[in-house]
Amino acid sequence: MFLKDKIKINSSKRFEIIDITAKVQSAIDGTGINNGIINIFSKHSTSAIIVNENEKGLLLDFERILKDIIPSNNSYKHDTVDNNADSHLKSFFIGSNESIPINNKKLAIGTWQSIFFIELDGPRNNRTIELTIIGD
Ligand code: ZN
Repeated sequence: MFLKDKIKINSSKRFEIIDITAKVQSAIDGTGINNGIINIFSKHSTSAIIVNENEKGLLLDFERILKDIIPSNNSYKHDTVDNNADSHLKSFFIGSNESIPINNKKLAIGTWQSIFFIELDGPRNNRTIELTIIGD
């Protein structure tokens, strides 16, 4: 079976890490798929999708390190277009999608893993995450 679905996200800050694990699992719940794979893809070049641990201190560390590596103002050429080069550059490094196995109707992530949508140029309404599920 091959299925498509969407998750819509509204962000409230310029940088925001949003745990979408429960939303992704409930999309799988509606499909009847027992085993397969799901791809979670953000359709925006100033956002990202990543898997990691949802621990408050770690998420703050991640935000700080991203700012250290890619400061917001650095004479970026793209800033002459729409002043959000740092958001795009962070997205280049993190990536736009993750693929995760589905085992017995559940996301086969580790105990300490969550799926995050990372807003890099918010706040925005109607950020779209496309889900593609293949399985049986
Ligand atoms: Zn831009």
